Formats: sequence, C-alpha cells, structure tokens
Amino acid sequence: MLEARDRVGGRAWAVRNGTRIAMNGEETQTVAFAPGLYMNAGPARIPSFHTGFLGYARKFDVPMEVEVNSSRSAYIVGADGSRIRMRTAINDMRGHIAALLGKAVRQGSLDQTLSAADKERLLPFLSRYGDLAPDGRFVGTERSGFARLPGAGLTFGAHGQPLPLEQLLANEQLPMTLFEDDIYMQATMLEPVGGMDQVHIGIDRNLRRPSIRGAEALEMANTPDGVAVVWRDRASGETRRMTADYLICTLPLPVAAGLRSNLPAAVTSAIASVRYGESNKVGFDSPRFWEAEEQIYGGISFVGPPTGLIWYPSGDLFSERGMLLGCYNSGPVAEAFAKMPLADQIAAARAAVEKTHPGHGDKLANPAVINWSKVPYSLGPWPDWGAMSSGRGQEGHIDAPAYTLLQQPAGQIYFAGAHLSQTPGWQEGGIQSAWVQVSAIVDRVRQQERRAA
Ligand SMILES: Cc1cc2nc3c(=O)[nH]c(=O)nc-3n(C[C@H](O)[C@H](O)[C@H](O)COP(=O)(O)OP(=O)(O)OC[C@H]3O[C@@H](n4cnc5c(N)ncnc54)[C@H](O)[C@@H]3O)c2cc1C
Repeated sequence: MLEARDRVGGRAWAVRNGTRIAMNGEETQTVAFAPGLYMNAGPARIPSFHTGFLGYARKFDVPMEVEVNSSRSAYIVGADGSRIRMRTAINDMRGHIAALLGKAVRQGSLDQTLSAADKERLLPFLSRYGDLAPDGRFVGTERSGFARLPGAGLTFGAHGQPLPLEQLLANEQLPMTLFEDDIYMQATMLEPVGGMDQVHIGIDRNLRRPSIRGAEALEMANTPDGVAVVWRDRASGETRRMTADYLICTLPLPVAAGLRSNLPAAVTSAIASVRYGESNKVGFDSPRFWEAEEQIYGGISFVGPPTGLIWYPSGDLFSERGMLLGCYNSGPVAEAFAKMPLADQIAAARAAVEKTHPGHGDKLANPAVINWSKVPYSLGPWPDWGAMSSGRGQEGHIDAPAYTLLQQPAGQIYFAGAHLSQTPGWQEGGIQSAWVQVSAIVDRVRQQERRAA
C-alpha cells in the first residue's frame, strides 16, 4: 500500500495542535488548538447503518461515541439575523400544519380523499401531532419551549405564544428543521473518540504489511506480467518502481488524472471527465459559551450562506474549551467562498457565530481553514456525479457512463474508492467499493487457478 502522505486516513483527517495544513496557493497554516481539541476537517459523522465502517471500529477496538448531530436548542438563523430555536421552529410548524389540516378536514375540503372513518381517526392524531387545543386551534405548546420554567411549589410552567406562521415561513433556514430526518443524518450518529482518523489508524495498525508513507505514485502501467507503479519517496526525492500482479488504484479521480499511465484512452478520459465539488470548513478554539449559556450540547445551528452552519462539539462536554466549527459549506456557495483570502473566510465564519451568538464572536481563537479543492492528494471533497447521471441523482442513483466504466478493471488495474460507490460522500462507500474490487480480483485468480488445474 503506497500512501503519499505521512499519515493514513486520506480525507478522514483530524487536525490538532501542531498539524500543518498545506493547501495549493495558500500559505501553510499550523493549527494552534488547545490540547485535546481537534477538528474533523473531512468526515465527522457516521450513520448507524454504515456497518462496514462501524464493523472496522469494532474489529480493531476503536472507541466510538455519540455524535450529537442535532440539538433542539440550536438555531435556525434568517438572513435578517433573526434566530429561532430548533424546538420552536419544529413544533410551531407542526402545530400550524396540524391546525390547518384539521380545519380542512372538518370543513369537508378533503371528503373526496378521506373516508368518514379515516377523518374520525385523523383528527385526534392531528391533535396529538400538533399539540392542539381541544377546539382544534394551535395556541402554542411546551414542546416549543417554556415561557416560564416550572419551578418549586406553585410555580407552574407555561409555554409562550406560537410564532406566527408567516414568521416561520420567512426564515430561509426553515427547511433545515428537516435535516435530522434525512436517512444519512438520523440519530443515533457516531464518531470515533478523539478524531475520525482513529478508525483508519486502527486498520493500518492491523495490516500485515504496513502502508509505505510518503510514497507518491507518479505512474501506473499494465505490463505483460502484471502491473508496475513508479513512485517518489517524498523524504529522499528518489524515484522507485514496484511491480505486482494487480493494482487497486484508490486515488481521488482528479489526482489519478495527473498520473502517467498506459491505460486505454477511454479509461483516462473517463477519469479526467469527472468534476469534483467544493467544500470548506473553518474551525475555532473557543470557550464553550454555547453549553452553559445557551443549553446547546452538540448539534448544528443553520445560518445560511455563505458559511452554512455552526457545528457544536459532541465530545468532552462540560470541559473548558471546545472546537467550534464556524463554517461548513458545499456547492456553488463554497466555490465562491474558497476564492476569498483565508482571512476573509475566517472573518465570515466569525461574523456568522457573532450573528448567532451575539457577544461571542471575539472569543473565537486559533482558526483553521480547509478548502478541499486546494488540498493536495485530494483536490476536492467528492465527485459531482449527479450532473453526469441520467436521473441527475447523487447518493444512491449514480449511473454516469464514466462511473460504470471505472467499475471494470483496465487490464490488471482496478479502481476503488468512495467515488465509485453510490455513496461518494461517505466513507462507507469507499469500504464497499474496496470489498467489491478485492472480491473481483479473488474471483479472477480462482478462475485462473481452475483453468490451470
Ligand atoms: C468536508 C467533508 C465532509 C465529509 N463528511 C463525511 C461524513 O461525515 N461521514 C463520512 O463517512 N464521510 C464523509 N465525507 C466523505 C469521506 O471523507 C470520503 O468519502 C472518504 O473518506 C473517501 O475515501 P477514499 O478512500 O475513497 O479516498 P481518500 O480518503 O481521499 O483516500 C485516497 C488516498 O490516496 C492517497 N493519495 C492521493 N494521491 C496519491 C498519490 N499520488 N500516491 C499515493 N497516494 C496518494 C491519499 O493521501 C489518500 O490517503 C466527507 C468528506 C469531506 C471532504
């Protein structure tokens, strides 16, 4: 296994105090987080159904913890700076929708669609769903938060007035209340304790032949006997050649496109045709003002463009300092963002935190910025297969011709990686793709052995 970097994990990269972040066209940053803090520069959460990844964590005894992917105490923040707590946005919307639907049912507007029996069953469900008053109106709910906390003695709890529907609808981030229902985002989500790279380090530790680090592949070729790879030892600058029966190339496609090879033209042009997206993160070392003052323990506030969100740490709750992610954006917004000087990216992230948590922007220290399109040996966060597929689908629906072609070996060279799975934005895809290609080689060798026997 040849690995260009001096670490394993690839995009699974946890940056800590002292980590050097080298990006093309930017001055190298040296991370200066407080001891124990880290930022998952790439992947940061694992859905519970990603059993391949979690299976390796289990197999190699890598401690995992809950990644608190959503918090009802976090905010959605409108472009005008107005903040709504998640619990309020979610439950006030439910109340309004339940009341509206109940009204339509009672008025007979849905008589063509609903039987009398279903109407009878639906109305009490809507009442529970929206926490409606007995007359079917929505007059607010404790689910959305207390206006007065229940206390001792006769200090009764009370909910506030519901936010008007128009105020909820006016918040551009309202759709993000559905974020936690996305199958890839549903609780319980997990993370390795201490950083995403821990599972990769665990795998590497258990390899019979450890990876060769600092080994940058420059050339790959099919030969009459198998394959050959020319690689550069980055420490000494020496160039070496390695031969083998088969090669599995797991380089991100923009990186693979830069290697010399004798691959067929159809394969090289398929590799070169795939565009990668854009994604950025900006993290800060910060006192944990969000915990005690705002009752936010993990989860995400959605703040809209250009910075996208604020992500609160799940680990080491109640400790003094934490890594606050002040920006995580993707897509066209991220493309423009990455063009800004790093100082402006940091300023934008700080401003978003200040907008969401007034008075706290100044407390953010020691920023670290990742623009994935500029990271050597990655050159992007994930491929944009959607634009090339018939249904324009990304996760789960990729059928681009280049994708299909690269599933097949070119001679003795096989291709694997998350980019060749139906979940190119998830580590699980890389694991599944590796399993498929290793199995294909095993089948091929067995067939050859059978023919030889
Ligand atoms: C911002 C961001 C957020 C993400 N969030 C999540 C998430 O929450 N959960 C999740 O599961 N996934 C997430 N992902 C996706 C996940 O990181 C990838 O799908 C996965 O890590 C890709 O694995 P891979 O092995 O295919 O590629 P990589 O991890 O890129 O591995 C390729 C390897 O090849 C090496 N290499 C490159 N060039 C050369 C060369 N010339 N010679 C030798 N070696 C070379 C690299 O150093 C690297 O180790 C995220 C990604 C990003 C960028």
